Amino acid sequence: MNYETILHEIYQESKTLPIIGNVSISIPELTKVDPDKFGIHLISIEGEDFGIGDSNEKFSIQSVSKVLTVALAFSFLDERIWERVGVEPSGSAFNSLVQLEYEKGIPRNPFINAGAIVIADMLVTHLENPKQDFLDFIRMISGSPTIDFNLKVAQSEKDTRFRNAALANFLKSFGNITNDVEMVLDFYFHQCSIEMTCKELAHSFFFLANEGKTISGIQVLTKSQVKRLNALMQTCGFYDESGEYTYKVGLPGKSGIGGGIAALYPKNFVVSTWSPRLNEKGNSDLGMNALELLTTKTGMSIF
Ligand code: GLN
Repeated sequence: MNYETILHEIYQESKTLPIIGNVSISIPELTKVDPDKFGIHLISIEGEDFGIGDSNEKFSIQSVSKVLTVALAFSFLDERIWERVGVEPSGSAFNSLVQLEYEKGIPRNPFINAGAIVIADMLVTHLENPKQDFLDFIRMISGSPTIDFNLKVAQSEKDTRFRNAALANFLKSFGNITNDVEMVLDFYFHQCSIEMTCKELAHSFFFLANEGKTISGIQVLTKSQVKRLNALMQTCGFYDESGEYTYKVGLPGKSGIGGGIAALYPKNFVVSTWSPRLNEKGNSDLGMNALELLTTKTGMSIF
């Protein structure tokens, strides 16, 4: 497969598509990002890198980080994490509160904010230095020791945390947060503020395409855990647009309101896109279109 030519074609064709959406306004610091940034990076399972556009510029990975916190929690708690969070698509917005009430504080899945906050609570309990240990995990799986939090973004999210604080307090009232709410939120805002380039993001997700092994050969999860995490991404990775995303793209993937997407074809490649303009569901419009072009042109999708 000539990925270089294909990425070039996708990049050119994407530029002719109608411009849809705008940068996220929910975190003030993210409104400063140039909406017209656009990058794609693909790493093949053989470890060959292909990048185009702004693929070497850092951006806020936001909810894409939720896959990596679940991976870390999964690695030491295994199936026990599902006692506190479900594996069903929510059909609601990523920051919705409604389901929590009638489902008694058990979030539908770990990719909506409520679920990710429960996973953050697990990590706060299990890690000695939660924020630093999580960062070290990311640096290890990506092979990139310079990956870091953006403290301004974390602070900006903290300053406007009303909805996430409501979710966390609501979860606490059901006994599904065991640590101090502010401590858990602080961890969650930092995980979301992590910045990566498209290349670093694709490298971080490599183990999910490689039966649990990172590029450097470290076994992070078992084959079976990887199957489960990829299945969750497929069914829940784009919130209430997961069906539409699956229909168009046909690869497990995860989006974030920083405009990033990471997606993968097991045993073949990992691809990441970055375009900060979001549609009304909070997913990157151009990123989804670029991935649709990729699976259409290559015929490489899990379906
Ligand atoms: N940090 C964001 C929030 O909690 C993440 C949401 C997202 O990327 N969809 O609202």
